[in-house]
Amino acid sequence: MFKINKTEEPQFFRDYKKRNNPKSWKDFSYDIKRQLKEYMFENEYEYKNEEGSYCPYCELKINLENSQIEHIYPKDKFPEKLMEYSNYLVACINPVTCGQNKGNRWENYFINPTIEDPEKYLEYDLMSGKIIPKEKDTQKIEYKKAIVTIELLNLNHPRLCNMRKNFIRECLCSFDCVKYYDNFPTLKTQIITDYNL
Ligand SMILES: [Zn+2]
Repeated sequence: MFKINKTEEPQFFRDYKKRNNPKSWKDFSYDIKRQLKEYMFENEYEYKNEEGSYCPYCELKINLENSQIEHIYPKDKFPEKLMEYSNYLVACINPVTCGQNKGNRWENYFINPTIEDPEKYLEYDLMSGKIIPKEKDTQKIEYKKAIVTIELLNLNHPRLCNMRKNFIRECLCSFDCVKYYDNFPTLKTQIITDYNL
C-alpha cells in the first residue's frame, strides 16, 4: 500500500459538477469518471507502468478499464463526501479485496493513503508474502491502524499472498528483477533493501 499525492480539485471537475448538478454517483457519466481516473494517474500516482498504474491498496497493475474510483470514506455512510474530490482515488475492482471488500465499512483507524504514508505502518513478511504491521507492540496505535487497514482491505487474501511469494522468489532468482517484474512497487523496494540487491 502506498501514498497518493493528492492535488487540488481539477477545474474540469468543478465545471462538470456545476453544469450537471449530479445528486448521486450514478449521475456521474462514464466519461467524467474516466477523465478523473486519467487525471489522477497522471498527477497523483508516483508509480506508473505501461498499462497505467497500480492499485494503491493491493499494488496490482490497473488501467483505465479495470479500475474504479474509490471513495475512501464510503459514499453511503458519508454522503457529504460523495462529490468531494479529495475523497477519491483509483483502485482495482477485485471483488474480494481493496475497495470492494471495504464496501460501506469504515473505521477511524483506517490509514488514509492520501493523508498518511502507509509505508510508515506496513511492511512485508518475505517468507509468507503477508503484509504485517511495522510496529510490533500490540498496544500501540500504529499497530492497531495497520491491523484495521489490512483487515478492511483484505490485503492478506491467500491469492495476493501467493502472488507476492512468487514475486519474491522471482526477484531473488534473478539479478534483473527490477526490469522484468514490475508488480508490487513497495514490496520490490523492501526486497531490494532487505537483500541488498
Ligand atoms: Zn487493489
